[in-house]
Amino acid sequence: MAKGNIGVTTENIFPIIKKFLYSDHEIFLRELVSNAVDASQKLRTLSSIGEFKGELGELKVTISVDEKNKTLTISDRGIGMTADEIEKYINQIAFSGAEEFLDKYKDDANAIIGHFGLGFYSSFMVAKKVEIHTLSHKEGAQAVKWSCDGSPEYTLDEIEKADRGTDIVLYIDDENKQFLEKGEITSLLNKYCRFLPVEVVFGKKTEWKDGKEVELDEDNVVNDTNPLWTRKPADLKDEDYNKFYSSLYPMSEDPIFNIHLNVDYPFNLTGVLYFPKIKNNVEVQKNKIQLYSNQVFITDSVENIVPEFLTLLHGVIDSPDIPLNVSRSYLQADGNVKKISNHITKKVADRLAEIFKADRKGFEEKWDSLKLFIEYGMLTEEKFYDKAQKFSLFKNTDDKYFTLEEYKDIVKDNQTDKDGQLVYLYATDAEEQHSFIEAANAKGYDVLLMDGQLDSHFINHLEQKLEKTRFVRVDGDVVEKLIPKENSIESQLSAGDKDDLTAVFTAQVPNGDKMNFIVAFEAMGAESNPAIITQQEFMRRMKEMSAMQGGGMNFYGEMPDSYQLVVNENHPLVERILADKNASVGEQVDSLRGKIESLNTKRSELEKAKEGKKDEEVPQAEKDELADVDKKISELNTKKTEILNGFSSENKLVSQLIDLALLSNNMLKGEALTKFVKRSIDLI
Ligand code: ADP
Repeated sequence: MAKGNIGVTTENIFPIIKKFLYSDHEIFLRELVSNAVDASQKLRTLSSIGEFKGELGELKVTISVDEKNKTLTISDRGIGMTADEIEKYINQIAFSGAEEFLDKYKDDANAIIGHFGLGFYSSFMVAKKVEIHTLSHKEGAQAVKWSCDGSPEYTLDEIEKADRGTDIVLYIDDENKQFLEKGEITSLLNKYCRFLPVEVVFGKKTEWKDGKEVELDEDNVVNDTNPLWTRKPADLKDEDYNKFYSSLYPMSEDPIFNIHLNVDYPFNLTGVLYFPKIKNNVEVQKNKIQLYSNQVFITDSVENIVPEFLTLLHGVIDSPDIPLNVSRSYLQADGNVKKISNHITKKVADRLAEIFKADRKGFEEKWDSLKLFIEYGMLTEEKFYDKAQKFSLFKNTDDKYFTLEEYKDIVKDNQTDKDGQLVYLYATDAEEQHSFIEAANAKGYDVLLMDGQLDSHFINHLEQKLEKTRFVRVDGDVVEKLIPKENSIESQLSAGDKDDLTAVFTAQVPNGDKMNFIVAFEAMGAESNPAIITQQEFMRRMKEMSAMQGGGMNFYGEMPDSYQLVVNENHPLVERILADKNASVGEQVDSLRGKIESLNTKRSELEKAKEGKKDEEVPQAEKDELADVDKKISELNTKKTEILNGFSSENKLVSQLIDLALLSNNMLKGEALTKFVKRSIDLI
């Protein structure tokens, strides 16, 4: 029997393994089964190149639990190890700079195992003693047993072993008893070993018979050694892809379509990605891609490894170039991982372009499900935007689809404003904005439907990307002003009329904490409505976007909704209000206006006299006079407003026009609505 110390530069790795690797204990099984699979595949390779001439036999890996002796054993029929190889591969561990590294990564078992190549030693996370029984495939090899109880000392003995290959025997410690339970092992094998390329056997298949579970005489193989993504796309049908999908995500609806990845240069990558049917809640759809390295499961949280928008996809990515035992932070910084993620982005875009080209109609049918994903990508990845602008679609309120370029061609003649800017009109709710859509269509304008979750962001993005183009929500203004053109209609109101009517209407709009109205005038045709309510585009978008981001300081979210009450200067009813006003308070108001005007003239004279003088050079008397004039103007204005308010509160027509405008925006509710109904009856 030989004895020795495990060659590490730090005193003893075992306390460290135990102490620091308290999370993720379960990955020891992944490590040991992967080693066994590697050893099996190496032998297969040696055999295929003629270096191993013996009988390969079945190369399965077997997991077994001995409840009595509290051991878990992982056995393979692979290359095995000689005593020399154990010395070289097991006893010597490169372990320099350990303390510092461990301190940094103490919560990340993967990082530690990966950094030190400690795959095998991870077994000490769960075992108080570990034995290796191994017989090398080399001709005339002597079987040996290595044993270590968690101290730096190990023993190495010659033993009898009939079968080629390696058994790793773990004496599970008391704190980790769960790893002796069949259920636990089954679920771990299912998680990490499901697609390993060599058969992994755990016990026998069972069957329910007469209310009892009975063992059959057949190995219970836990893995699919030839998973779909490793097969040739030419040999696969849609059904195969869908079947694989539902095996990965039981209970899910069939995906929309898939992308089979198969790259061997400049790195190795295979996999299948699926476009799921995206539901409203994006979050639950995220992070379902599983990452494998040579068919060994690594992780199913790929955020920060693949671009954000790709986390909406489902499926499997497998690359030996993604290091197996590494930490999340390491993966993110890894150059290969970056390249891989860029490549996947490109592939996804290419595949979408291909489907778009081959079957435009089918693509349009799927668009509503794809839209969120594609917009997400275009918003967040410049390169994806460049490719996707060729197949990204607009849908209008008539359910017709256009590419960005097609759409531009369609609207450019009729929807270019007087400054040469293209104006894309859109609705966010075809029902609620129905009357505005109708009005726009009547003018020959097209209206897009932008009712998606990301659309307000997407619109902003497109405005930066598309040349001389802006988006205006169809209820953002009266139809005459949505796309300002040269030939506007003559107004019939004087500046003074507008001034008075502003006060008259302002007195009746429902201003409050949540709503804020500005009264504006527009010369529309007599056939248009007398008053219309519009919402300012900028403010509304800011509010929508801040609502989406949610949480914390929400500057725009706190602001009241701001609306415009646009009064049609040319409508007969507005003319009637004006006439009523003139009849009842016209003289008073005009006389006040006359006084205000002459005070204003006086004021400008005083201001003029001050020009070019420093403050101290202006005589006090002049300063006093200016202050006096200002005061008088303000008093007269207040008086004028009071008189107009008084008129307004008596005039049912003003309230009626405002309520009608509110009503067609679905904004008249509760008491205000009751009053409106009553007033309408009175008026009839
Ligand atoms: P890694 O697998 O990262 O090299 P490990 O600590 O898991 O690190 O294993 C160290 C080495 O021990 C392996 O590279 C391999 O040469 C050898 N080894 C481990 N397990 C087996 C096995 N089941 N059969 C043959 N050799 C093995």
